[in-house]
Amino acid sequence: MTKKRQKDIACSFCGKSHPEIHRMVAGPQVCICEKCIVSCKKLLLNQQGKTVLSSSKMEDFPTAFSKPADLRDVLDQYVVGQDRAKKALSVAAYHHYKRLQENDQKNSDKENIQLQKSNVLLIGPTGTGKTLLAQALSKFLAKVLDVPFAMTDATTLTEAGYVGEDVDSILVSLIAAARGDVARAQKGVVYIDEFDKIARRGQNASITRDVSGEGVQQALLKVLEGSLCHVPPRGGRKHPQQDFLQIDTSQILFICGGAFCGLESIVRQRMGRNAMGFTATKTTSISSQDENIALSVQPQDLVKFGLIPELIGRLPMITTLNPLSEEDFLHVLTSPKNALTKQYQALFRVDGVDLRFTQGALRALAKQGVQSKMGARGLRGTLEEIMFAVTYAVAGDGFVKEIVFTEQSIVQGRTPQIVRWENAA
Ligand code: ADP
Repeated sequence: MTKKRQKDIACSFCGKSHPEIHRMVAGPQVCICEKCIVSCKKLLLNQQGKTVLSSSKMEDFPTAFSKPADLRDVLDQYVVGQDRAKKALSVAAYHHYKRLQENDQKNSDKENIQLQKSNVLLIGPTGTGKTLLAQALSKFLAKVLDVPFAMTDATTLTEAGYVGEDVDSILVSLIAAARGDVARAQKGVVYIDEFDKIARRGQNASITRDVSGEGVQQALLKVLEGSLCHVPPRGGRKHPQQDFLQIDTSQILFICGGAFCGLESIVRQRMGRNAMGFTATKTTSISSQDENIALSVQPQDLVKFGLIPELIGRLPMITTLNPLSEEDFLHVLTSPKNALTKQYQALFRVDGVDLRFTQGALRALAKQGVQSKMGARGLRGTLEEIMFAVTYAVAGDGFVKEIVFTEQSIVQGRTPQIVRWENAA
């Protein structure tokens, strides 16, 4: 570029020209100065040097994980209430992320302090959001951190050699989630649902699972505490000719969840108080007594429940979820992304029908939810039932403008108000 030409050219972004700008990159129609290039680079990279994803799918997700509240904000989009569990998960995932970064750096610095993980145990009544929290966490991990996530159910786990799935299957799922990349799987997160089902219980001991009821726990202990495990590639041991994969579980974060029915009476017994437990679902508001019981779960209570102390020792972060109150049910119906009423409204909108629920209808549904004792899980069933008849009657009709569910239509099972277009027959 000649000196004369350089003088004429200005940066298309900041407008500055030579001599304010030393170097510039010129395209056919536009120019960009070195300062603007640096600014753009900063914009496109987050603090960790990770490329910011700018697709529309990311709009509700933070672009970095610089504080636990970044994850908390995402959990809030999907899960109503459960403040304690959200904070515990956010902190655990944040530590996990930082630990991975630190350990990577330390390995390269040849320092030998390894930061250990703190696995999480979520305890709470059925239908209160344990799995939902894990699902929201998995979305965050996949979109923001590129950490694989696997979800599994402890109900089917058995000691090796018995009918059912070996504990290894958990790691097989994680390797599959990491698309076969064992190194990535070693940094992953696993959610084990129905964790209480592996508790040792004299009367329930099943000889198809293992005789003492402890075999699965011992096998899980090995995986949770961090060890080198040898797992069959996907397809299991049915193909003995395949080489086993070696996976180190010391960096994998485990989150375990379960209802632990009956645990509250163990806590109550220990505390020597007569209080309602956290698995009680009759309450419409969470009393401080309930909170106390839930907050008072100690490792020894879990031992009494039937978990071996070594396993509990590997779950240092124990947190409890509250039964949902009537107010919580109201929010579950309308607030979260994918809220049930939003789903039905979207379905009817496809047919040009405006579906509405009055405040009275929503409150009646919330009351039924509390009474059902199934947590928010029961709400879908209730809604399915009331929507079934009306969907059958009006879907594809073409003349329905609006359907309004009122308190009466919920409580007395009356047909909702159906408003038709004026020129309809
Ligand atoms: P569990 O605690 O038994 O794992 P889930 O998380 O599977 O319960 O909840 C079942 C369903 O109930 C979810 O798919 C969701 O629709 C609803 N739900 C439960 N708890 C909540 C909550 N706290 N906020 C929003 N929806 C919830």
